[in-house]
Amino acid sequence: MQKTLSIIKPDGVSKKLTGDVICVFESAGFRLAAMKMKWLSKAEAESFYYVHKERPFFADLVDFMTSGPVVLMVLEGDNVIKRNREIMGATDPAEAEAGTIRARWADSKQNNIVHGSDSEESARFEIGHFFSGIEIF
Ligand code: GDP
Repeated sequence: MQKTLSIIKPDGVSKKLTGDVICVFESAGFRLAAMKMKWLSKAEAESFYYVHKERPFFADLVDFMTSGPVVLMVLEGDNVIKRNREIMGATDPAEAEAGTIRARWADSKQNNIVHGSDSEESARFEIGHFFSGIEIF
């Protein structure tokens, strides 16, 4: 079984979409293996998104990700990394397929409700960034 890291970003939590998003994941057959709510520090957000540190939007992205609490989850399932990315939809909600989380609820390319790991390598790094072994069931 594959695992992926999912984050309900500060916009998803403040828009009271936490339950709806978890419902989408569980309805897709994903198993919740770990979950916690956390207000990320600047250092935690910067190190999480270090691959984007040279991008022009990096400072804005870190400000956004530290603007309120997030919900961190480990999802488990067959091919869950790719399937979760499909269910999330494209980064920019204007380009996201109808019915995806971002098409339904995201406001902008930055404020796009959810994060999902994009490869097995990033899933390993991202899960380890936020969860220790005994927190994953
Ligand atoms: P994802 O894998 O679909 O989340 O997209 P990326 O890995 O390309 O980008 C990471 C996150 O950075 C996105 O989910 C957005 O929150 C944010 N982001 C991406 N592109 C832009 C942009 O052009 N401007 C801003 N402000 N934020 C962006």
